[in-house]
Amino acid sequence: ESLKPNNFLRAIIERDLEAWGQLQDARRFAGSPGDAAHHAAGPLDPARIRTRFPPEPNGYLHIGHAKSICLNFGLARDYGGICHLRFDDTNPEKEEQEYVDAIKEMVAWLGWSWDAGGSSHLFQASDYFDFMYRAAEYLISAGLAYVDEQTPEQMRVNRGDFGTPGTNSPFRDRSPEENLLRFREMRDGKHPDGAMVLRAKIDMASPNINLRDPALYRIRRATHHNTGDTWCIYPMYTYAHPIEDALERITHSICTLEFEDQRPFYDWLLGHLADGGLLARPLPHQYEFGRLNLSYVVTSKRKLRQLVEEGHVSGWDDPRMPTLVGMRRRGYTPESIRNMVDSTGVTKQNAWIDYSVLDGYLRADLEGKAARAMAVIEPIKLKLTNWAEVFGSDAHREPCSAPAHPQLPELGQRSFSLGPEVWIEQEDFMEVPVKGYHRLYPGNKARLKYGYVIECSGCEKDAAGQVTAVLAKIVPDTKSGTPGADAVKVKGVITWVGAHEGVAAEVRLYDRLFTVPQPGTSDADFLSEINPQSCRVVQSWLEPSLAGASTDSRYQFERHGYFIADRKDHSADKPVFNKITGLKDGWGS
Ligand code: ATP
Ligand code: MG
Ligand code: MG
Repeated sequence: ESLKPNNFLRAIIERDLEAWGQLQDARRFAGSPGDAAHHAAGPLDPARIRTRFPPEPNGYLHIGHAKSICLNFGLARDYGGICHLRFDDTNPEKEEQEYVDAIKEMVAWLGWSWDAGGSSHLFQASDYFDFMYRAAEYLISAGLAYVDEQTPEQMRVNRGDFGTPGTNSPFRDRSPEENLLRFREMRDGKHPDGAMVLRAKIDMASPNINLRDPALYRIRRATHHNTGDTWCIYPMYTYAHPIEDALERITHSICTLEFEDQRPFYDWLLGHLADGGLLARPLPHQYEFGRLNLSYVVTSKRKLRQLVEEGHVSGWDDPRMPTLVGMRRRGYTPESIRNMVDSTGVTKQNAWIDYSVLDGYLRADLEGKAARAMAVIEPIKLKLTNWAEVFGSDAHREPCSAPAHPQLPELGQRSFSLGPEVWIEQEDFMEVPVKGYHRLYPGNKARLKYGYVIECSGCEKDAAGQVTAVLAKIVPDTKSGTPGADAVKVKGVITWVGAHEGVAAEVRLYDRLFTVPQPGTSDADFLSEINPQSCRVVQSWLEPSLAGASTDSRYQFERHGYFIADRKDHSADKPVFNKITGLKDGWGS
């Protein structure tokens, strides 16, 4: 079986594996990352591809991260390689253990494992702080780095900008000995935060601003969730990240396009550290791909944090949030997210994917799995006025049943019953019907699904003229599934729940969180683009088979769409269901 290089990253990996003589092997092991045999060469075998997903634990993962996760873990799976989960925790002020735990949980929820060949490939950048410090001392002694005591403002001005060369710092030509002394003072807490930084000594006139002596270390007295107060200096991301990749023997370091201009520094740094004998070759290479953006969604941690902190949503896991915790709570399946991400391919452009693509994969996944049930979302009572006449007594209950899933007989049957009063949808009655309306209006017949044909005779109203109940009569001998059921032809079929046995539930009807396809990209504040109708809570009635629904179980409420028992608020005493998505695409579906 041959793997098609259907994107440029696959083509690069196949080229590299070919050069290493491993392509046949990779094909043989594709899809079996847990197979111990192909890791026999040891965890540092450079002929296996190694990728990594390197989140900073400063927030919750969102749908954009799912792209990077599926890409990195997917390439490792497809080519018999290994993907590391690495916490890029070099920024202690913003990082927390809470985020580390949540990230691990969601990578696993998406279906990926960082265990391969019997060992865990879970890493944290902070474990390399000692090495990073030693590497910095090496760069200083090799004349490749210096301590700069300019103010941040001076540094900014002297960096120059696009088209204007920068100006050398007056501290740039200090001797390695002097720099080493100062750097050790930085480490030993002899200088206040922000007083000086360690910078690489490259070229202040480079057309690439990232090569104008980028900062490598800064002083920051902050307690780190892993290393505590051991350090008061922390490496900059641009310095730390290449080293992390190299120490883990990553082969293909895949990142988003905004890092393209950082690649020359990535290569500069690793090349010098390898020359100095601190790192082994072959060195990792960085490759960039376009970010995934989903329409009607923001995927920026900063904006997501603002939504949470200002109370526009109920939390990171609000079912309207594009965070993975939010999407899980909303009812999205890992399969639908993986399929959407795969279908969008890998390109060199930042792409906007339409939300309907994700919903399409979601429906395709749920259609074949979710058990069916009847639910009356916005109820009104229907009184069957000839009940006792037809069945002998108002106490009679007429048993009905339906398959739990029309294509999955193994899921069995659901049973429920009709009685003299049932709940129906308000929209299933019109006192004065519009053209083409086939449901209940005085004089019209329709079928109670899985039950009888009924004929509407009118309604009851309150003093204000509001309809309070719909009235109808059973048409005898028309029960679904019995001989002669079809003798009376009707065009409308109505879903219902028996008033004597309905399960009261809170149903949360969610819609898109934003009203515009690309929120935050116009001059308007993205907060002004929030959809005020994105959550509507209604009191509904569910068929009795849902009485014991377990948390996180998904159903198709017939004709309404897909719903999930809320993982936080649902209980047997107080059922709460979230609308995942409608049965077809569109606003409010
Ligand atoms: P944000 O911009 O939301 O803060 P980030 O890139 O700063 O995200 P990280 O935790 O550093 O957050 O991201 C981990 C990995 O996920 C990185 O390799 C990053 O490039 C990738 N990633 C983040 N957002 C997207 C996206 N929208 N599409 C593809 N990959 C993404
Ligand atoms: Mg980042
Ligand atoms: Mg970012």
